[in-house]
Amino acid sequence: MGSYRMVKPADAHVLTLDVVATERVTPSMVRVTLGGEGMDHFTPMGFDQWFRLFLARPDQESLRLPTRSSGLWYVQYLATPRPKRPFVRCYTVRAVRPELRELDVDFVVHGDEGPASRFALTAQPGDRVGLLDQGVGYNPRVEHDWTLVVADETGLPAVAGVCGSLPDDARGLAVVEVPDAADVQDFRVPEGVEVRWLPRSGTGGDAAAGCDAVPGRLALEAVRAAELPDGPVYAYAVGESSLATGVRRHRVDDRGVPKANVDFVGYWRHGHAASS
Ligand SMILES: Cc1cc2nc3c(=O)[nH]c(=O)nc-3n(C[C@H](O)[C@H](O)[C@H](O)COP(=O)(O)OP(=O)(O)OC[C@H]3O[C@@H](n4cnc5c(N)ncnc54)[C@H](O)[C@@H]3O)c2cc1C
Repeated sequence: MGSYRMVKPADAHVLTLDVVATERVTPSMVRVTLGGEGMDHFTPMGFDQWFRLFLARPDQESLRLPTRSSGLWYVQYLATPRPKRPFVRCYTVRAVRPELRELDVDFVVHGDEGPASRFALTAQPGDRVGLLDQGVGYNPRVEHDWTLVVADETGLPAVAGVCGSLPDDARGLAVVEVPDAADVQDFRVPEGVEVRWLPRSGTGGDAAAGCDAVPGRLALEAVRAAELPDGPVYAYAVGESSLATGVRRHRVDDRGVPKANVDFVGYWRHGHAASS
């Protein structure tokens, strides 16, 4: 995962939460609602707030979580014998309801090969997970007139969070590639921001040609071909690693956008499992 200056949470601890409910919101996305007393220690930050999610291994009797926060959790994690370590994956807050002590996470389900995808497909109320808040990735540090956000389906929750947190007078474009036309979601978008959905299948026409493609290619091509507004931009690209790096390369090398105006985070790599 690429990283740069994120907005860190003030005081993050590893929280224990329970699965409250699951729902298949669209063909490719399962929403898992987490909740419990651990939510009393979670501070919503808006935008694309993300966290590390700790999941029990199938042969683990109970979930063994690190107790340290900040960077120290990883030292503790590595000191734990491998069979006793939980899986760790990164996810984004899709919605949070502090009054109900609930938090929604939208998981792209891509079969049972990955532990996180498998978890989303099989989670039952009462299943226990750990969560360590990591803060917000969308962090413009430059003057800009408009915003460009680019994502594949794994970045859909981030796009929804960013659009939901931008001010009413924000201007911009969000390009979101999804597996299927039925994976489009509804969320609050400022009037001056256009959301351009790019389904890889389900719409016929050009999009259908991309249905076997590696996620992110359609979005990268669309950004390369797009006529974009003039004026200083803050661009933010997340999703499959080639999409994130490709958008940055295009904006900086081909369009002369200063590096400081473009942030990107490779969320996952096609053909490579996350390391923990
Ligand atoms: C900051 C951040 C926020 C994120 N937020 C979200 C989020 O809100 N929702 C979300 O769904 N993902 C999100 N991701 C991406 C998610 O962490 C990865 O997709 C992760 O690899 C999934 O773990 P896994 O255990 O299912 O698969 P892994 O064990 O990591 O991988 C197993 C195999 O599946 C492949 N794979 C992994 N993800 C996908 C995918 N989406 N589609 C197809 N193949 C895949 C891998 O290439 C590998 O071959 C985020 C990542 C980051 C860094």
